[in-house]
Amino acid sequence: MAQYDIIIIGTGAGGGTLVHALKDSGKKILVLERGTYLPREKENWDSIAVFHNDRYHTKEVWKTTDEKDFHPQTGYWVGGNTKVYGAALFRLREKNFEGVTHYDGVTPEWPLKYKDYEPYYTEAEKLFNVHGQMGEDNTEPYRSGEYPNPPVSHEPRIQELHDELKAKGYHPFRLPIGVRLNENDMLNSPCIRCNTCDGFPCLIHAKADADINCVRPSLSDTNITLMTEVKATKLITDASGKTIVSVEAERGDEKFSFTADIIVVAAGAVNSAVLLLKSANDKYPNGLANGSGMVGRNLMKHNNAAMLAISTKLNPTKFQKTLAVNDFYWGDDEFKFPMGHVQLMGKSNKDQISPDAPFFTPGLVMDEMANHSVDWWFTGEDLPMPENRVTIQNDQIYLHYAETNSKGFERLKDKWSEVLKEVDDVTHFIPHSLYLKKNIPLEGLAHQCGTCRYGNDPKTSVLDMNCKAHDVDNLYVVDGSFFPSSGAVNPSLTIIANALRVGEHLLGRMK
Ligand SMILES: Cc1cc2nc3c(=O)[nH]c(=O)nc-3n(C[C@H](O)[C@H](O)[C@H](O)COP(=O)(O)OP(=O)(O)OC[C@H]3O[C@@H](n4cnc5c(N)ncnc54)[C@H](O)[C@@H]3O)c2cc1C
Ligand code: SF4
Repeated sequence: MAQYDIIIIGTGAGGGTLVHALKDSGKKILVLERGTYLPREKENWDSIAVFHNDRYHTKEVWKTTDEKDFHPQTGYWVGGNTKVYGAALFRLREKNFEGVTHYDGVTPEWPLKYKDYEPYYTEAEKLFNVHGQMGEDNTEPYRSGEYPNPPVSHEPRIQELHDELKAKGYHPFRLPIGVRLNENDMLNSPCIRCNTCDGFPCLIHAKADADINCVRPSLSDTNITLMTEVKATKLITDASGKTIVSVEAERGDEKFSFTADIIVVAAGAVNSAVLLLKSANDKYPNGLANGSGMVGRNLMKHNNAAMLAISTKLNPTKFQKTLAVNDFYWGDDEFKFPMGHVQLMGKSNKDQISPDAPFFTPGLVMDEMANHSVDWWFTGEDLPMPENRVTIQNDQIYLHYAETNSKGFERLKDKWSEVLKEVDDVTHFIPHSLYLKKNIPLEGLAHQCGTCRYGNDPKTSVLDMNCKAHDVDNLYVVDGSFFPSSGAVNPSLTIIANALRVGEHLLGRMK
């Protein structure tokens, strides 16, 4: 049995970044990834393949606790879900780390604060080619410096919208996004600003993802071994339950057992919890490292919704994900609780919106709708509830998730519809607006987090401040699982920054 210094399970935002952080350590590192490299193929940019046929999603069936089957919209690839993400890379706000009073309850304080993360956010933005403009977002946390790359420019229709919003006193800003784009030299820019980015893999590898920016550049180091299509199935401890002595894994019918001094689970919030639950033993009958009973609990995924604002005005924008608004992040004069965040999505075409349209809507009408729509994405904070959780029964994954904080979120969507109508009145471009609002159902687990939260108290948290399991000396969890609360901006930059932070700790530990 080969012996490694460290085994990292999963290569997404958390695991992939950790591979990068440890690559120069000289340590013998084994990386286990259940997926393959995402193939480069024309389907990468084909809406039917991506959205209708779920080409890049797992075919697994998960269940709700009332036994309803669903297909989780999550993928298993080198790079994890960053292969298809929209690359909107936000920092949480200072207050998000302090505990926030919401309409439905109060979020817990994080054991570390924004100031602890600031240097890692800065490093994470460099690593993931983030473009943005300091000083535009009215809720922006303190930054020690400018973004590493200039903001991505708006196309004319979005610039017009930006100007109208600004004229009305709102604070639209250029959305921080991780793409390898050089607008001063488009001939040589890797990113071509296409209309198939948000939710699609990048056919030409210009999106900053964990595969392209972290894993591949690390593999030239001969001390790192990546095994793809190998799924970790169980973590085995010694008799004390304090030390993991081996990782069981499989590739089809082939079985493996690996050993290492340190084991890092970075399988994504649901699958990391699943692996710990499956690793129950005599010492931890309810799941490994689960002395607190918190493994799998406090599942969060954000309140997310998409809305097309359709006007009489054409929207020929190709790369639309350039603008965001946080004017209602903390609430407004009439609603004193947080409402959430608004950002543009990738530009929908008729194939993307057709699942939402009545079945008799003719293609031409959908074309018209798509050509005249501006596509908005809303994120509201959901609360960590112990009863919202991941469980397993005979290898079957179950999720229980009841919505929280929907009042503020519904207000956010209504408020934004009003704002758009206000802006439309000014420009006279939507005399007969039609708004389609759609909340993302449970299978939309894009922002899953919180199932192994970190904290100072082993009775209420799974991980300590370094993301090491309170109960097991050589087990770390380094993905979205550690979040004590979800904030209301996209999670990846925080997962990446935290992985860089834990990477630094591990370098110290392995010296
Ligand atoms: C369509 C879409 C759009 C998104 N847009 C944004 C965005 O704009 N901004 C943003 O911040 N976030 C976005 N997200 C969310 C973002 O992708 C995730 O928050 C992030 O990837 C989570 O990182 P992670 O490391 O926790 O998990 P993942 O990235 O999911 O990585 C987990 C890895 O573990 C592997 N794995 C799982 N189980 C096992 C096992 N048993 N053995 C071995 N390997 C295993 C998986 O294959 C995967 O590689 C989006 C997500 C989706 C789906
Ligand atoms: S916009 Fe740029 S990064 Fe995104 S898919 Fe197109 S080329 Fe790739």
